[in-house]
Parts: sequence; structure tokens; C-alpha cells
Amino acid sequence: MTCRICENKVGHSFKEEPFFPPGGYKFKQNNTYECHQCGQKWYCYNDHFCLWGKVEDDLTWKFLINNIDVLMAIGDICAVVPGYEEHAIDPVHEVCSRKVSHPEISLGDEKTAFLQWTGEYGRGRMNIFCHQFKFPIMSLEERFMEKIDTFRVPFVGQIRDWPDEGQRQGMIETFGDEEKSVVYLMSAEFTHDYGDDVGPVSFISEVVLLGDPNVGLIRPGYFFDSFVVEMVNGEFKGRK
Ligand SMILES: [Zn+2]
Repeated sequence: MTCRICENKVGHSFKEEPFFPPGGYKFKQNNTYECHQCGQKWYCYNDHFCLWGKVEDDLTWKFLINNIDVLMAIGDICAVVPGYEEHAIDPVHEVCSRKVSHPEISLGDEKTAFLQWTGEYGRGRMNIFCHQFKFPIMSLEERFMEKIDTFRVPFVGQIRDWPDEGQRQGMIETFGDEEKSVVYLMSAEFTHDYGDDVGPVSFISEVVLLGDPNVGLIRPGYFFDSFVVEMVNGEFKGRK
């Protein structure tokens, strides 16, 4: 049961007499509130007029607190429209609690390098919560492991999505087929002799996909940012 305090304060909130959630209204994020007295969950469906509705189901609440854009019916009770349930299944694989805005490389136990990035699910399922995972990276030289945090990632994806079409055939010959997921790594900490010039070390490694009983095969989503290449090159030149 909703207690009288939040029923009056939150439920009857409007522009002239607004309810302010702890920390105030957040910009471009969902404003939610959970009453400490009665546990009632609330969602501000109109932050201009400070209108709040109750949230009665866990799935809607999960979408709201994760700031996921979904279609909702709003009013006294706010609820996600039917059809999202099948995409709300959580993977068995561990999900990264901290999300990154660019793909990141780190070293795990047993000297395995990992790529953290947003996953794409198999079986036509959507990763609606944009969960990120740690994917093992194959065949990384030991000397790179020592300064693994200096590596930047300009590209993650399948070979068929590699930006330079002319290089795809060679990559297919190296890695097997165009479906393979790879990561392009660069570090200004290591020098490589390219014959006519020296530059930051860079190479392409295969990414190990995660087989998941709930969501199928998880592969890292596509990412490409040519600015990362420029940034590492600039960093390298600054070091010389
Ligand atoms: Zn309450």
C-alpha cells in the first residue's frame, strides 16, 4: 500500500506545488523515486509539469532506472507496453557494472587480455539494456601485456565491416571468414618499424565470443572511430 506521505507529496505533485526527488530533477535522465516508508516506486513522466505516476511492475522499473528508451503507457500507473518481455532476459554471462563510452582493454587473471564493450546477442534478441561484457582477446604478445592500459581501440567488429574494403580479403585469409569478430589495437608506447617510417605499434586480434544459454552467442558490437588513430599517432609524435 502506498503511504499517505508519498501519495500526497509525489502523487499530487504538479508545477505549482512540485515534488522534488532527492538530488533534484535530473536532466536527460529518467527521474524516479522510491519511498522509504512504503516502498512505492514512482516515475516522473512529465518533468515540466512535475507529474509522477506509480510503477507497479519490476520490468518497467528496470527500464526506467537503466534509462532505456521504451514505449510506455503513462498516467497514475506507468507501465511499459507489452512486447518487451522477451528482450528483458538477462544473460548468464557476467555483465560489467561500469559502462565505458569507448571500447577498453584490460588484463584479467592468467594473463588474458580482455576487451570491454557492448554485446550483441544471437537468436534475434536485442541487448535492450546495452549490457557490456569482457571478451577475451586471442594471441596477444607478452610484452604488450605489461602496458596493456596504453592500448586504444579504433575498431571493433566483424571482418565484413572493416572500414578498408581492400584489406578484408587478407583478413579473411588470416582469421578464417568474414564473420569473425576482431579488434584493432594501437599503442603509442611501443614503436614499430614500418620500413620507410616508424610509428605506434598496431595490430588486429581475434575476439573470443561468449556462448550464453539465455541470449545465444554474444559478440562485441560494431565500433569505429578514426579519430582514435589520429590521437595515437599524435601521441606517438609527441613522444619522439
Ligand atoms: Zn510512501
